[in-house]
Amino acid sequence: MYIIEVASECAPVSKVGGLADVVGGLSAELSLRGNAVEIILPFYDCMRYDQIFNLTVSYNYLPVPWFDGAIPCVVWFGLVHGRRCFFIDPQSKDNFFRRNTFYGCDDDIMRFAFFSKAALEFMLQTNRRPDVIHCHDWQTGLLPVLLFEIYKFHGMENQRVCYTIHNFKHQGKCGNEILAATGLNRPEYYFDYQQLRDNHDPFALNCLKGGIVYSNFVNTVSMHHAWESRFTDYGFGLVHTLNMHQHKIGGILNGIDYNTWNPEIDRFIPFQYTTATLENKYKNKEALRKRFWLYHDARPIISYVGRLDNQKGIDLICHTAHYAVNNGAQFVLLGTCSDHSIYEKFLSLKNQLNDNIHCHIELGFDEDLSHLIYAGSDMVIVPSAFEPCGLSQMIAMKYGTIPVVRSTGGLVNSVFDRDYSDVPWYERNGYTFTHMDNCGIESALKRAVGLYYDYPGHFRSLMEIAMSYDFSWNIPGKHYENVFDFIKHK
Ligand code: ADP
Repeated sequence: MYIIEVASECAPVSKVGGLADVVGGLSAELSLRGNAVEIILPFYDCMRYDQIFNLTVSYNYLPVPWFDGAIPCVVWFGLVHGRRCFFIDPQSKDNFFRRNTFYGCDDDIMRFAFFSKAALEFMLQTNRRPDVIHCHDWQTGLLPVLLFEIYKFHGMENQRVCYTIHNFKHQGKCGNEILAATGLNRPEYYFDYQQLRDNHDPFALNCLKGGIVYSNFVNTVSMHHAWESRFTDYGFGLVHTLNMHQHKIGGILNGIDYNTWNPEIDRFIPFQYTTATLENKYKNKEALRKRFWLYHDARPIISYVGRLDNQKGIDLICHTAHYAVNNGAQFVLLGTCSDHSIYEKFLSLKNQLNDNIHCHIELGFDEDLSHLIYAGSDMVIVPSAFEPCGLSQMIAMKYGTIPVVRSTGGLVNSVFDRDYSDVPWYERNGYTFTHMDNCGIESALKRAVGLYYDYPGHFRSLMEIAMSYDFSWNIPGKHYENVFDFIKHK
């Protein structure tokens, strides 16, 4: 099959969160399975250029219709860890992707609407006719709309779209200027509830909804979240739309890329290890303490790696920092945040605990450092309010680091409580809690820290079970292939 992934992120060149890991990991798996896979990405100025091999101009002049004129684009080509990537580089005074940031600009919706249009224009003008175009999140929600309303009539009638939603909260709501910009026009047609009109704001169009309505298959990143999004508040206002299109909705649990996340071959940690050489994990723990000036003793290290967003359970993360230092554990945090008030909150936590020899808070994005934290910690927390899939618990488990998570979304499909789960004991791999409050997370942390101190042998067995889980892309890759094959023949 010929598959083109169109996304706003791809690890490790442009990564903000899990979307990047998924695009990178899934593409590699689909190629391994014998498919021809290409990835189309924006040419951001803040990408990790050191991770792109042989970056060259592939197409010098790609005019992309925009409002009444066109914006010429240069299309670059490069290999990202063997993956064939094309980067769209618009040449206009808007400087859509030269903002020194991936997201967070006032015109984000215009930027990514342009990107969606440019990706299709690139396929059209270079005669690329993939069997399946795989789009991700609101940023590419307009792509299937443009494909089936415009490009289909210019020789792209056989292309099919699978649309994967990694986060229902961000939907790309906008006004009708987007219709004039992309050439869709006809506001009276698109401002309809069957079409792109937002279900709650009658004056807004909704890019994510457009993706759901127009794609041939809509997927979210875990089975449990596929259910939650249709039957609970986690559909963020799109429950009705999802139910109208229920015949084409599915959920596939993400995998992780074991070429990147594997303690056996990880070059970002000083001591590689497997289940047979678990003592090396403790050398990484010492390295982590050394790096963060933490006190060396028998305490377990509890960590958090991730975006600092309300979705992620900000209060519970802060509470864990205090709980850990007051209850015989240490706490390490690596996180980024775009919200000013949340940033202030963590800055103040950092100041409060700055002199504590059992705590370190690092505010920033550092992929290389995240490897050492996963390897050197004993437990990670994922206390999310909602979590479509969540990768950090799966990454942590590969490193023998026990996840302590709230039972929601993909966490339900990947973490099974050691004491209370109904799966057999040899499949129980972590700790879970339900209530989104201090007592809830404490109930799980207490059990995890208790096992660590009181039954080290049992704790070690739990680590071995977690490490033996297969969260590779092998099985999800097969599921995606089945979905693509199914829509290809429709
Ligand atoms: P989300 O997609 O909601 O951000 P996921 O758990 O699905 O959450 O994926 C997060 C990914 O991003 C993981 O690979 C995690 O290690 C990484 N990550 C998040 N924040 C940081 C950070 N500040 N530094 C390094 N890696 C990070």
